[in-house]
Amino acid sequence: MRLVLVGPPGAGKGTQAVFLAEHFAIPHIATGDIFRANLKAGTALGEKAKSFMDRGELVPDSVTNEMVADRLTHADAVNGFLLDGFPRNVAQAEVLREILASKSTPLDAVLELTLSHKEIIDRLSSRRTCRECGKPTVGESKCPSCGGELYQRDDDKEEVISRRLEVYESQTAPIVNFYRGEGLLATISATGSVAEITARAISTLAK
Ligand code: AMP
Repeated sequence: MRLVLVGPPGAGKGTQAVFLAEHFAIPHIATGDIFRANLKAGTALGEKAKSFMDRGELVPDSVTNEMVADRLTHADAVNGFLLDGFPRNVAQAEVLREILASKSTPLDAVLELTLSHKEIIDRLSSRRTCRECGKPTVGESKCPSCGGELYQRDDDKEEVISRRLEVYESQTAPIVNFYRGEGLLATISATGSVAEITARAISTLAK
C-alpha cells in the first residue's frame, strides 16, 4: 500500500498514521518528524529547516523533496509507505508523482482527514509531544506510549498555529483537488475517538 495522508495540522494525521502503518505493515514517513529529528541532532538539514518551522512556514521544496526522494529509496519503503505531511503543496505532489512514476509504483490512495476550524484550534493548543518518541498526545502528564516527558512544540503555540492554518489553506489544501483529479482521493471525518477514526480509515481504504 502506497498511501498519503492529508489534512490540516491537528486533524490527527500523526496519530492515525501510527495505526495505519501498523495495519498495512508499511513505514510511517513523516516529514515533520524527520525535520524535528534533524533539529534535535543539530544536523545541517535541521539548521536549514529551523527558521521556517519556527515561523510555521513550509521548508523550501528543494530541501524537502530531496529528503523525501532519499527516504523513499530505503529498503523498508520498497513495498509501500505511508507519507504524513508530504506533499504539502501541488509542486511537491507533482515531484512525488514523478519519483513514483520513474519506479512504476504509483500511489494507491490519498486519505484526507477533515475537521472543523474550531476543533483544529482546540486540539493544537492542547497538544503535547513526547520528547523521546515524538508521539502527540492530549490531556496526559507523561507520554502514554513510552513514559517520556511531554512538551509543547514551539509551532503549537497560538501565534504560530494561525500562520500554519493559513499556510495549509493557501498552499496545502489545493492538493486535495489535485488528487481528486487523479482519482485517488478518499475523505473521512476526523471527529470521534482515535479507534473510531482508524476503523473509518481502514474501511474507506478497503473500498
Ligand atoms: P508537521 O509535523 O507535519 O506539522 O510539520 C512541522 C513543520 O515542518 C511544518 O510546519 C513545516 O515547517 C515543516 N514541514 C513538514 N513537512 C513539510 C513539507 N512537506 N514541506 C515543507 N515543510 C514541511
